[in-house]
Amino acid sequence: TINIPTDAQEILSTLEADGRQAYVVGGCVRDSLIGRTPGDWDITTSALPMQVKQLFRRTVDTGIKHGTVTVMMGDTGYEVTTYRIDGNYADGRHPDSVEFSANLRDDLKRRDFTINAMAYNNSDGLVDEFNGIGDLQAGIVRCVGDARERFTEDALRMMRAIRFSAQLGFIIDEDTYSAIGAMADTISKVSMERIHDELGKILMSDHPDYVKRLCDTRLTQYVLPVMDSILTDRRCNSTLTLLMHAGNSPYLRYAALYNAADADNANAELKALKLDNNTINTVTKIVRLSKTSIDETEPAVREAIHMYGRDFLPLLMRHQTSVIAAKEETTGIMMTAARKHVEVINRLYEEIIKRGDCISIKDLDISGSDLMELGMSGPRIGETLNSMLHIVMENPKLNDKETLIAMLGTLE
Ligand code: ATP
Ligand code: MG
Repeated sequence: TINIPTDAQEILSTLEADGRQAYVVGGCVRDSLIGRTPGDWDITTSALPMQVKQLFRRTVDTGIKHGTVTVMMGDTGYEVTTYRIDGNYADGRHPDSVEFSANLRDDLKRRDFTINAMAYNNSDGLVDEFNGIGDLQAGIVRCVGDARERFTEDALRMMRAIRFSAQLGFIIDEDTYSAIGAMADTISKVSMERIHDELGKILMSDHPDYVKRLCDTRLTQYVLPVMDSILTDRRCNSTLTLLMHAGNSPYLRYAALYNAADADNANAELKALKLDNNTINTVTKIVRLSKTSIDETEPAVREAIHMYGRDFLPLLMRHQTSVIAAKEETTGIMMTAARKHVEVINRLYEEIIKRGDCISIKDLDISGSDLMELGMSGPRIGETLNSMLHIVMENPKLNDKETLIAMLGTLE
């Protein structure tokens, strides 16, 4: 049996008391059956959206045209969707037209994969029309119905198949897999935002190396040429190994993926993927500085923190650790010195941050207005503060107003 949370159960009971059918459906059923914690609990019902709205006090019309009403229970929203039959998905996201239905089977039939097409409630138990349970137990991602037809309706499903395989560690059914290969070119109809959503989920999964499937099915060939070339040539194995050692953040996973690329090419592809600017810039910077070695001295680490940013340096060190671990795995040779170097930099970083050493102009014991009072004006002020900062990062003892004023004459 599936343990439905109280709020979701209350929604089911309210709909049933009104004479409607209602089930939890899709991802939450799949995840519950394999002992994963569901992200959200979606509900499918024979009730029409207007009827759902009348039954609950607080609702939001999130996708009312497509039959979805969000029912608010406390702070949590539950998507309640009317049984439906979908028309084409020209935008790869929402079907152009939907038809409501009175049959649960119709609703299950429109869903992408057998493991996502199961419904459950306490009165009927599991409703599984397409042997989702068998595929779930065997670890198979398989389309509901004819794979080519399903990918023709919605090309994003090709990425979703690989995404679920990576999240669950599943294989992809042969027909489903060969249909992806046959229809890979149609992925170019899907928006880059939807593509990066799925790619991000693959990279953040327990099996980030399954990105190889994107390339084996030729999906990357049409939309992600840089990634495609990395994963089809000699850089492939080291990239996949690196991905398996990457830290648990999107920055680090993307940086591992593009580590073997030229930083400018990586940057262009991250932009094409329409990732947010922060991710684009951080990942590009990690790739660019991947091989940078910082001197094992406090001044050098302070300079690095100042130059690259306080939050960035730990990311870069984590990335370099992954690179070392991946190389060790590939070559079978322990890189003790390289590991020790990163450890030293990390330790110096911790000490500098803990002490609150001066690493930026605002940490100086003197300010722009102090310099103005001394009669300085224009760009000289910024230049002077900058020179002082570098002197203080070299020797923190000098960060004292009088000392800094005393050195004014000696500065350029
Ligand atoms: P996640 O844990 O990522 O939320 P999920 O299975 O809940 O996984 P969603 O994208 O939230 O996936 O979709 C919820 C359900 O809606 C799916 O389980 C599936 O039944 C159906 N679904 C979602 N997108 C599609 C699609 N493009 N084509 C067909 N069915 C879909
Ligand atoms: Mg979901």
